[in-house]
Amino acid sequence: MRLTVVGCAGSFPGPDSPSSCYLLEADGFRLVIDMGHGALGVLQRFAGIDEIDAVLLSHLHADHCVDLYALRVARHYAPGGPMPPIPVYAPRGALGRIAKVHGVDDLDGLDECFYWREMRAESFGIGPFIVDAGHMNHPVETFGVRLTHGGASVAYSADTGESDELVRLARDVDVALFEASFLSSQPGLPADVHLTARQAAQHASRAGAGHLVLTHFVPWNDPEQSREEAAGSFDGKLTVAKSGLTIDL
Ligand SMILES: [Zn+2]
Repeated sequence: MRLTVVGCAGSFPGPDSPSSCYLLEADGFRLVIDMGHGALGVLQRFAGIDEIDAVLLSHLHADHCVDLYALRVARHYAPGGPMPPIPVYAPRGALGRIAKVHGVDDLDGLDECFYWREMRAESFGIGPFIVDAGHMNHPVETFGVRLTHGGASVAYSADTGESDELVRLARDVDVALFEASFLSSQPGLPADVHLTARQAAQHASRAGAGHLVLTHFVPWNDPEQSREEAAGSFDGKLTVAKSGLTIDL
C-alpha cells in the first residue's frame, strides 16, 4: 500500500500545496481521498486522469471536494470520448452539491460520469481496501476513515475537533494521517471544528498509532511549529506532510 500526499493545505491552498487530497494505491488500484482546491493539477503527477479507480470525499466543505467537478470535466471531455464512470463515496447530498459548483440547476451529466455511493458510519470495501468509516466532530457531516490492505492500515481524520471516534478508528494503526489545523498557542480557537497539533498528537498516542503524519496546515501557520508542538505529546515516528510525500507500508 502506498500513500501519497497530493495536497495538505488546510482551508485554502498555499503556495506549495493544493487543498486536501491523498492518493492511496494497492494492487494497481488507485483511490483518491478528498479533492480540494487545485488537487487535480498536482494529482496528475502521480496518477493519470484515466487511471483513477475511485474517489472518496470525507465531507462537502469546498477545500475537500470542489475539484471533483474538475475531474468530471477532464473525464467527460477527454479527446478519446467520455471515460467510463467510476464510483464516488461521499456523504449524503454530494451529487447536488458538486453540480452547484458548475452553476447549473440540473445534474449536468454528473450522475453519468460517476457512480454515487452514499457513505455511512460502517465498514465497506473499495477495490482492494477495507474501509471503516466513522463520524467526526465537525460542523457538517464528516467521515474519518481507516483503510486496511494486506495487514497494513492508514487512519485519516478528515476534519475534526476532539473525537473519541477518531481514536477508535485509529487503534494500533500503522499511519495516523491527522489534521493539525491549529496551534495551541493561538488565542480564541473554536471548539469542535479542528485539532491543534498537540491534540492530534494526543489522539494518536491514545490510539497507539505507530507513525503520525500531521496534515491540513492552514498556510499562514508554520508546519515546523506544528511538529514541535506535536512532538511533546507523541513518542512514535512523526512526519509533517508536504505535497509529494510518499509513504510505503
Ligand atoms: Zn471541513
